[in-house]
Amino acid sequence: MGHYSGNILRSYLKQYLILTGVLLGIFVLAAVSQAAGIRAHHTLQIELFPATGKLTGIDEIAIKSAAVRVLEFYISERVTQLKVEVNQKSRNFNFENGRIKLTLEPQEQSSDLLVTIYYAGIFDDPVPVRPVNADNPGYGVTATISEKGSFLLAGAGWYPELAGSQATYRLKVSAPAGLIAVTAGRSLGHKTDQGQTESTWEVDYPVEGLSLSVARYVVETKTVGNVTAATYLLPANQDLAQSYLEATVGYIKLYSDLFGPYPFQKFAVVENFFPTGFGFPSYTLMGGRVLRLPFIVHTSLGHEIAHCWWGNGVYVDYAAGNWSEALTTYVADYLFQEMKSKKAALDYRRQWLRNFSTLVRPENDFPLDQFMSRSSPVSKAIGYDKGAMVFHMIRRQLGEEAFWNALRDVYRHRLFQKTSWSDLQRAFEARGQRSLEEFFGQWIHRKSAPRFFMDGVQLDHSAGEWKVSGQIIQKDPRYTISINLALEAGSERINREIEITGEATAFEMISSERPRKLAADPGVDTMRLLDAAEIPPAVNNIKGSPSVVIVLSDQLPPDLKKAAETLALSLGLKNYQFISESGVRRSQLTENDFLLIGQPGQKELLPNMPDQVSIQPGSFTLNSSLYNESSDAFFGVFHHPFNNNRIAALFIPSSDRFADIVARKITHYGKYSYLAFQSGKNVDKGTWSVVRSPLVYKWD
Ligand SMILES: [Zn+2]
Repeated sequence: MGHYSGNILRSYLKQYLILTGVLLGIFVLAAVSQAAGIRAHHTLQIELFPATGKLTGIDEIAIKSAAVRVLEFYISERVTQLKVEVNQKSRNFNFENGRIKLTLEPQEQSSDLLVTIYYAGIFDDPVPVRPVNADNPGYGVTATISEKGSFLLAGAGWYPELAGSQATYRLKVSAPAGLIAVTAGRSLGHKTDQGQTESTWEVDYPVEGLSLSVARYVVETKTVGNVTAATYLLPANQDLAQSYLEATVGYIKLYSDLFGPYPFQKFAVVENFFPTGFGFPSYTLMGGRVLRLPFIVHTSLGHEIAHCWWGNGVYVDYAAGNWSEALTTYVADYLFQEMKSKKAALDYRRQWLRNFSTLVRPENDFPLDQFMSRSSPVSKAIGYDKGAMVFHMIRRQLGEEAFWNALRDVYRHRLFQKTSWSDLQRAFEARGQRSLEEFFGQWIHRKSAPRFFMDGVQLDHSAGEWKVSGQIIQKDPRYTISINLALEAGSERINREIEITGEATAFEMISSERPRKLAADPGVDTMRLLDAAEIPPAVNNIKGSPSVVIVLSDQLPPDLKKAAETLALSLGLKNYQFISESGVRRSQLTENDFLLIGQPGQKELLPNMPDQVSIQPGSFTLNSSLYNESSDAFFGVFHHPFNNNRIAALFIPSSDRFADIVARKITHYGKYSYLAFQSGKNVDKGTWSVVRSPLVYKWD
């Protein structure tokens, strides 16, 4: 599931538009020609006609003297029946490429204005029923009005937005009885009269675009201080309301203590009628099936609420890179692990390093200051995982007090303001009382990560003490980093922090007992590229593969070909080809990663497998359990049998009954080496163990 803030959407759309060069009738707010910061208040009335996918709108926009000659409003190219009034008098205008351009008279340029825009439009993006790939949180849907529900994204142009404005809103949505509308801000209630339900909302802080969701919601609320926690769920999921309300209250308390008071009047958990994972200012919009997943309340919900401080509270200055996913990941997903145990936190950090090391390659890498939003496993490994690790390193350097105080400073001073990595840097420098110029230079403005190992370790014994010496060798690109060295010697455990820079850094440690083990960065506190030996092959390796040959077993029933196609799609493979087992050449296997579908007739195609798994005709054994039912399925990722730098994977769906369901699920188990499914349900999963690391030295 993707985590998206409302303000990230526009940048995502913008990026998408730039990349594809196609204008889909979506306006792009970032391309402003007017001076930023015109104050505008919208009194917006929308009526929805779900049977026909239509809406009508009247927007009265009160504008504080704009001091510009031309006002520009973005609205979808899909709208018709446009009419514009200035100070209640009809006015000519120009409408092109989703922009209304309005030329002002000289006396109008210096006075307050009331611009009224009348319009109608049909919004009917097709909605996916069972989407396969989850990297785009809305599956490309930007605006749709239907009897099942309505979903109108900020950025889709469902209402006119004044370019370069800081806008506040009062929004009234009228729809057939029982249809309740939710958006940002504060609810002023829902009332039903003469077959129509009217929902009123007020947004009195400058918001970067409004999104709207409408469905037959049951509303429940709970208050915490001045804040309302609310659920807008469809009747079938009403039983989830209490646990979501309680968890929401808990998160609001947690982050208010950590960063400062919650910036909005409410936080709502809103159910969407198709699967999404969106975080908007003051609410999250998730599909019903997602909401039912037991872990969401413990992970994603907290992440979305943390975004109310970071991303939807303190805004992101996209021109300088999106830092909000890194910080939110660190103070939510990661912090929850830290609250569980030290080991859980360490495992989580190690997983970030594994994700980055397996998915990111020199040709698809980019610096954090170029991260916009998650659009692929690679961009997630950079913008979320590496970014979160950077915050971890800052925290270690500065110490607890300075780190959390700096974040409080940023929140207090920059709420609802566009904020960049440089603003964060200054706040950390002020509290840490040191320059972080070099740190930000190498971690934020440069791509990649360090790769280092221990070399030339020697042990000397004289005058009753043991001396360990050696070097830390760095490959290019070189970093300046401080790492921990831990020496175990008898009952002693000696820790030393050393700064490594350049190609080689010598170190020396003394112990009174005989050393047993020396480890560099044993706590996994430093962002680095792992050695291949430190990474057990996992689903992520296939997801990040530059090229995959998908080999269809000659014994594969033809129906299973479809499951293989689903698998390729859901793994997000970019460069792959299907080849039958009898048609595959050895060189094709050697030069690529390969994925076997079904049990191959030729035994030598099977990769070497750890002892805990074995494959027999018609069955497999994993962790001492035998799987021999036609509803069982296995997926495993292994070292490549003919190429050390590549990997091989094996998918054995025993029958086509559950193959397609399993094929859709595998992608969600990115960090795992092996998976077993029964009747489409995961019943076993795990990671092959790691045997050696270039940062550990052991004496026999
Ligand atoms: Zn997020």
